[in-house]
Amino acid sequence: GTTPVTVTVTGASGQIAYGLLFRIAGGAMLGRDAPIRLRLLEIPAAVASLEGVAMELEDGAYPLLSSIDITDDPKVAFEGANIALLVGARPRTKGMERSDLLAANGAIFTDHGSAINAVSDDDVKVLVVGNPANTNALIAMNNAPDVPRSRFTALTRLDHNRAIAQLAKKTGAAAADIERVAIWGNHSNTQYPDLFHATVAGRPALEVVDDPDWLEHDFIPTVQERGTAIIKARGASSAASAANGAINHVRDWVRGTDGSNWVSMAVCSDGSYSVPEGLISSFPVTCTDGEYTIVPGLDIAEFSQQRISASVAELEHERAAVEELGFV
Ligand code: NDP
Repeated sequence: GTTPVTVTVTGASGQIAYGLLFRIAGGAMLGRDAPIRLRLLEIPAAVASLEGVAMELEDGAYPLLSSIDITDDPKVAFEGANIALLVGARPRTKGMERSDLLAANGAIFTDHGSAINAVSDDDVKVLVVGNPANTNALIAMNNAPDVPRSRFTALTRLDHNRAIAQLAKKTGAAAADIERVAIWGNHSNTQYPDLFHATVAGRPALEVVDDPDWLEHDFIPTVQERGTAIIKARGASSAASAANGAINHVRDWVRGTDGSNWVSMAVCSDGSYSVPEGLISSFPVTCTDGEYTIVPGLDIAEFSQQRISASVAELEHERAAVEELGFV
């Protein structure tokens, strides 16, 4: 048969991983023709719980799942990885300063970046989900000098999907009829969800909606604050929808985007749209043959430019902070 694809998942006994692993094993991410080896990483304290997750994976008797390895050693977890999903991160706990959070995550993503550099497959593709996702990806990328920078990405696909969902609700259209929404900047509440290029059944979204007040005072803050709204409602952060976004991100990166549509991914800036080179920032991208391309030549309205710049400024602050801590 076909050689299995090695998929490494960190934070593998956490909530998001619980929404991810069974769908990966079922073929939702890489297709029903791709056998998979799962390599699962956890901190030592969570390995026992991860053993339970591995038992449940076994009990799925998934035809595509050729092996499951669990470990607390990044050098073992990333061995031969073709796809690496970096979900585990240190959450902010009570009394923790922002600098403590950056320091804790800086250490984790330095470690994971250097393990990827040392032992992953040459074709490895990395998606960082754990927050602060963009800056964690920046740290991993800078600690993996032998891996092309284009292989380090962070998740804004959930934000992208949330934007589609809000626009669908407003217009009564099906999500499938909506194309070309975009998320710019940081995966934080400064992100800019952009409808200026979006279409609803082929018509410009902002013509269909024709309500500038909704755009500015409803749509944008609703997408930006959606994660907080879910925590309030559920008493726990979004997990299944984040997992779904991660699956969509990798699937489209590997298998390509559709026709005239694009998706949002946080990727290493090449200086496009005045985003400083080397920052991991979200852009609209298309994917073909396992490579993404930032959509070129879009007209950016002044309304959008201000908001993109604000989010990029936040990313620059985060970069300066982790530079000062010596992580990049
Ligand atoms: P989750 O699985 O719910 O979340 C994992 C990470 O994803 C968090 O950083 C979370 O950020 C982030 N995230 C990114 N986007 C979203 C989104 N849209 N919605 C929700 N979360 C999002 O966390 P758990 O605590 O359940 O699991 C984390 C696991 O990671 C634990 O099992 C822990 O043992 C492990 N871990 C591993 C470490 C390591 O590898 N060294 C270090 C620390 C933990 P946010 O916190 O902002 O919600």
